[in-house]
Amino acid sequence: MFADLHLHTHFSDGTYSPEELAAHARRCELAAVALTDHDTVEGCPRMDAACASLGIEFIAATELTAELGHFELHILGYGLDIENARLRNELARYQVIRQNRIREMCARLNRAGIPLAAETVFGLANCKAPGRPHIARALVQAGYCANLDEAFQRYLKMHRIAWVPKAKVHARDAIALIQHAGGVAVMAHPGLNRSDDFIPELVASGLDGIECFHSRHSTATSEKYLTIADRHGLLVTGGSDCHGMNKGRPLIGTLKIPYEHVRRLNERLASSRRARGTAPALPAAAALS
Ligand code: AMP
Ligand code: FE
Ligand code: FE
Ligand code: ZN
Repeated sequence: MFADLHLHTHFSDGTYSPEELAAHARRCELAAVALTDHDTVEGCPRMDAACASLGIEFIAATELTAELGHFELHILGYGLDIENARLRNELARYQVIRQNRIREMCARLNRAGIPLAAETVFGLANCKAPGRPHIARALVQAGYCANLDEAFQRYLKMHRIAWVPKAKVHARDAIALIQHAGGVAVMAHPGLNRSDDFIPELVASGLDGIECFHSRHSTATSEKYLTIADRHGLLVTGGSDCHGMNKGRPLIGTLKIPYEHVRRLNERLASSRRARGTAPALPAAAALS
């Protein structure tokens, strides 16, 4: 049995609907999946229903954009109570930040002679957590760029004319928010960031796990993070980080982790719920005897 714990839909910057993604998961014979759209859990109810109808275990999740010492890093939150009020409020706040950033990026494009309207990007994105890939798609559709990569290279990459830094939540606060909503916090794709030096600080802030397996991690990179996870007693997760067709080809199915990691994740979720008193430690009858 295998799982993919890092997937995106069109509720953030992926191209698949939850139903399409679940169908792909079925074809890839995945026993469990998590939906980790950036700064949103909007797609989770539909993904949950689609997975249930296909007999796939579903884990509600998100990928928060955080920072630590001026470095951007992504924190995955698994097993979230998506109705949690603080989680909903904070995600709504991050989404407004994303929307305002799109407006500012379009204003910069306009000043550079490209009359792309923010409303066009919002219409195309059709989600609450729009990002640069949506601007890239709008630039391609309007004929300003031949493809998404050209849009990033010419306009959207760091320090290009339309680039606007993104306000980020402190990693410590991202971890606390995820745990407050009943979830476990996992450092995403550490091999893509230069943030190894921060791992002890993240662990001190309560980090639960590390995404050792990722489609852009080499075998050596995965092994390095497995050693680090072991040293700190952290959970091990992994996923393809599939964005549908946004990254050229669908990555789902290219990276599958053994189900054993999901079992451990579920165990951690259950024990932290017990510690918080949100679930009984023992069946009621046993507790009374
Ligand atoms: P944002 O969260 O708005 O800063 O956008 C980040 C997203 O843009 C991530 O999903 C990246 O994978 C994606 N991205 C970054 N560079 C490129 C590129 N050259 N081509 C396509 N997508 C990219
Ligand atoms: Fe993304
Ligand atoms: Fe990420
Ligand atoms: Zn991702």
